[in-house]
Amino acid sequence: MRRGFLWVILFFFSNQLFAWGFEPHQLINKHAVLILPSPLFDFYKKHIKYITEHAVDPDKKRYIDTNEAPKHYIDLEIFIGIDSAPLNYNAAKTIWGTDLIKKQGSVPWTVYFTMQRLQYAFEKQNLKNILKLSAELGHYVADLHVPLHTTENYNGQLTNQHGIHKLWETEVAGIYNNYAFLPNEAQYLQKPLDSIWKWMWESHDQLANIFACEKKCRDKNQSGLTQSYTTQTNGIMSLQNNVDFVREYDKCLKLKVNLRMEESIQHIASCIYTSWILAGQPPLPDHNELPDEVALINKENTNSHDHGSCHH
Ligand SMILES: [Zn+2]
Repeated sequence: MRRGFLWVILFFFSNQLFAWGFEPHQLINKHAVLILPSPLFDFYKKHIKYITEHAVDPDKKRYIDTNEAPKHYIDLEIFIGIDSAPLNYNAAKTIWGTDLIKKQGSVPWTVYFTMQRLQYAFEKQNLKNILKLSAELGHYVADLHVPLHTTENYNGQLTNQHGIHKLWETEVAGIYNNYAFLPNEAQYLQKPLDSIWKWMWESHDQLANIFACEKKCRDKNQSGLTQSYTTQTNGIMSLQNNVDFVREYDKCLKLKVNLRMEESIQHIASCIYTSWILAGQPPLPDHNELPDEVALINKENTNSHDHGSCHH
């Protein structure tokens, strides 16, 4: 009994650590590079490995920085009925105060501020910061496309649907690891904060269906086993949903996870493109100007970059 409880605890917390899972985040960042318009595409293509590998840095930061976690989500329930959305950070701070915002999450403003920092890095032609902030921006934009990052019932804990977070963003997303994504083109965002809030509400609007489908599939499979314990690469055992169940759930959602991934890809590219336009379309740093550590990364990957594992 105690042991079972321990696994539930481990499972519960392991769900809170990461969004999308490592692989989907990397996949999303990589594909965002592939749809950037010229000359951004030529520049980012050279650094595609960096942008891909560092897609998960913000999740790793959660281990060492307690201020990091709220940057990945927002509980939108407190915003329902407030007609002044999309709110900027200062307006929200006036209404709720810094402490409550920290508790409720701040992903929309994190995305917005990261875009501004990226714009500044473009203006300064600071290669290291351009790459670092682009990779991080990709992460936060992808996070706000995860519907369960926009609700206080983020893991189904309020509706007895524990584990739904991982089911949606890691197990279902995992089905699409080798999928040929076809996102729309990157666009210049006239009002970035408005776009960010729109994407977030689109995430939130999917929640009712996400919970209803989980219940429907779980009820239908009541007599059969839908989960089993599996040892992960880090040695920790966790409860996994069986593949058939995951596929059934995905079908019930009408492939919305895949669509959300494609929208993440398009919107990351749009955010990067917009930051560059707002910076005045400056020339992009040349290879010769690379700081040592970035030069090293590129040297390692010179051959692989040009081929890319591109579906386009
Ligand atoms: Zn995250």
